[in-house]
This record gives sequence, C-alpha cells and structure tokens, in this order.
Amino acid sequence: MSDAAESLYDRMAAYDRYIAGLFAPEDDVLVATRAAMQEAGLRPINISATSGQLLYLLALLCGARRILEIGTLAGYSAIWLARALPADGRLLSLELDEQHAAVARRNLAQAGLAAQVEVRTGPALTSLQALRQGETGGEAGSATGLFDLVFIDADKEGYVAYLEQAVALVRAGGLIVADNVLREEVLDPDADTPIRRYNAALAAHPALVATIVPVLRHRGVDGLAVAVKRRGAG
Ligand code: SAH
Ligand code: MG
Repeated sequence: MSDAAESLYDRMAAYDRYIAGLFAPEDDVLVATRAAMQEAGLRPINISATSGQLLYLLALLCGARRILEIGTLAGYSAIWLARALPADGRLLSLELDEQHAAVARRNLAQAGLAAQVEVRTGPALTSLQALRQGETGGEAGSATGLFDLVFIDADKEGYVAYLEQAVALVRAGGLIVADNVLREEVLDPDADTPIRRYNAALAAHPALVATIVPVLRHRGVDGLAVAVKRRGAG
C-alpha cells in the first residue's frame, strides 16, 4: 500500500472507532459474544459494532416486531437486531452449520434473548421455502408479509435466491438489508459474481427502493444494501 493509501486506511479505521465510541460502544454481552466466537474457532466475519448500530436503528425505524436473519454465525448481529424488538417481538435466524448455531444459542441465552430469538438450522433456502408455504412461523396461509425486516448475511451464492424469498416474506414498508455488497469485484463490469448479480437484481426490482450504504470495517470499506418494499407492493 502507498503511504497515502495507508494513511487513508488508518483514517477510515479511526473514523470507525470514533463513531463506535460515540454511538455503538459494545457492552459486556457483545464483547463476550465475540470472545466465545473466537474460542470456538469461528472466523470473525461478524458485522462491525457500527454496522450493528445501523441495523438496530433500521429495525427501530420500521417498528420491527418480526425479524428474519439469514446467516447467524455466533449471534453477534442477531443480538444487535433483537435488541430493537419490543418484548413480544421475535427474531428467527437461519444457519446452516450446527456448531455455529450451538455457539449462537449460548450467546443469545447469555444476552437474555433466548425467549425472543430462534436459531433454525439447515440450508437457508429450504427454511425460507418452508416459511413461504406457511409450514412454520406464522398463521396458516399468511406467509406473505410475515416479517418487518430481513437481514441477508449468509453464503453469497445464495443472495439472489434469498432476495426473491425475502421480497415475498417482508411486508410492504418493510426492509431487506444485505451485508458485504461492496467489494473490489463490483467495479469490474465484466465480472459475473454473486454480489454483482445481487446488487443488479436489487436495483432492478420493481417492488423495491434501494441503495448501498458504504460502511467501514477493519479490513477497509464494505457495504450494506438497504431496500424498502414499496407500499402497495403486495
Ligand atoms: N450475521 C453474522 C455473520 C454471518 S457469517 C454476524 O454478522 O454476526 C455467514 C454465516 O452463514 C455462517 O455462519 C455460515 O455457516 C452461514 N451459512 C452459509 N451458507 C448457508 C446456507 N446455505 N444457509 C444458512 N446459513 C448459511
Ligand atoms: Mg457479513
């Protein structure tokens, strides 16, 4: 890295620490969640605290009572999201890996959120299709508009399919947020990658209004795609 790039990188990291210090200081539960994740040998690919605060704020903004997360890992982002719920609110988090789910359930219990958060294991697409068919999680036959906010943060290859399910499962006026949508590859107009396909699908979707919010992470810049389902769109 050139000196200029290095100093810009340092400054971005400092900005992120500044924002976190003011708006997103981690409490003991969040610190312990990251520690438990590391102890269990999970890669620390959780969102940052400042992104957690943005998710928390978005959940409050849309008055979320029902949240769906795709990709639990150790429960770090689930804790940020679930803290925006009212006492009778619920978060359902989908996770492929049984070990990740076990670590997450322990962390969520430590956070006092066991009664509000369910971690469901299996391939996310299978769980989403079951939700669509009204097999679980809702009043029979009313799978459409089940959730106020959907957070997509699992395997990138699945993102476009998750988006299609999320649009059906979120209510009009609800939000669909996706992590890790700004990477170097998006700048290559010839690259046919899952994230480029996701961003293009999001931009073109007639039922959604969306943009990408660039965010600071310890490895540099990343992005959260934020979309709202139009009122009157199903
Ligand atoms: N949202 C978490 C990070 C999730 S990391 C946080 O910020 O704290 C991505 C997770 O998606 C991993 O735990 C991985 O096991 C899970 N995953 C990968 N493929 C999946 C699939 N097909 N279905 C459900 N989860 C999947
Ligand atoms: Mg992520």
